[in-house]
Amino acid sequence: MDFKDKVHKFKSYEEVVALPGFVEGEVFEKEYYANILGVYRFKERVRCCFFRENRVCNTAHNHGYAVELKNGSVTIIGNECVYKLGNEEKLLKDVKLLKKEEERQDKMQVVKDKIGDSICTYEEVFEAYEKAKRLENIIVDLFGRLPRSVGRSLEQRVKTDTKNIAVTLVYDRKYIEDGEEKTESDYVRTAVYSIKGLRFLNLRLITSAKRKVSDAVKTIKSFEAITNNTSYRQLSDISKGFSLYQRQLGKINEFEKYYYEFLTNDFRYFSFLSDFSSENSKVIKCFNDFSTGLKKNDPKAAYKEVRAEVLVNHGAARIS
Ligand SMILES: [Zn+2]
Repeated sequence: MDFKDKVHKFKSYEEVVALPGFVEGEVFEKEYYANILGVYRFKERVRCCFFRENRVCNTAHNHGYAVELKNGSVTIIGNECVYKLGNEEKLLKDVKLLKKEEERQDKMQVVKDKIGDSICTYEEVFEAYEKAKRLENIIVDLFGRLPRSVGRSLEQRVKTDTKNIAVTLVYDRKYIEDGEEKTESDYVRTAVYSIKGLRFLNLRLITSAKRKVSDAVKTIKSFEAITNNTSYRQLSDISKGFSLYQRQLGKINEFEKYYYEFLTNDFRYFSFLSDFSSENSKVIKCFNDFSTGLKKNDPKAAYKEVRAEVLVNHGAARIS
């Protein structure tokens, strides 16, 4: 008999009575046993139909089994009587198997109850892993193309969550002193742009989430391998594995949101990230993939354009 399907647990005597072939009081003789249909643990007591030594047992009991006889009729037998059968008796063998299976399923249920029934599938884990990998690749590729100084500066910004891009504006004031023209300059550090979705560039975060989410494959395998002998400590580890997966999945989804937020940036301003004006073009080119607007312009023009905008907005003479 195969119990890999859910072991049937009857909740009430009425459920047993409703089985096709059920005959109230039909005696059970071990020679006519065909099949076990399920187990019950009722609050109310029912009468055992086991027949041996020329009499029906008739013992009131709560815990027993619904069994099918060779003639197709269905009756019940108490747990105690089953264990009076010899070890070689098929019904006793079936009951032992059923109990193991019942324990196995109860143990699986322990995990399900702990994690709110959300057992992930291999496909879901694979999809989450692939999503994390795609996002990771975008960042690795971007940092690979950026001038190193800019890459480092961005990494530093991610670490310190510094969103503002600042430039130094120079206000020149000309004046005459002793008949000579002189210039006095005021230097003001001003934020000209705030980077949106900066957290997207946190490579460490997505790489760690990717690794941890893939650990869920091991967890699913352990879950599937649960037996009646699996210890509660092991069950607890499996539950933790599933919870960890849920947490990492949340992180990956959050990370994806940062990515879409990052895409809404005006990347022309990113040219100010470079301290070396010769690399501004390179910086803007790197962000071409993220902005359709940039693609049309040549990088130098984009840089000039945004530079002019800043100067107009701040009324400054130059950017240092
Ligand atoms: Zn009995």
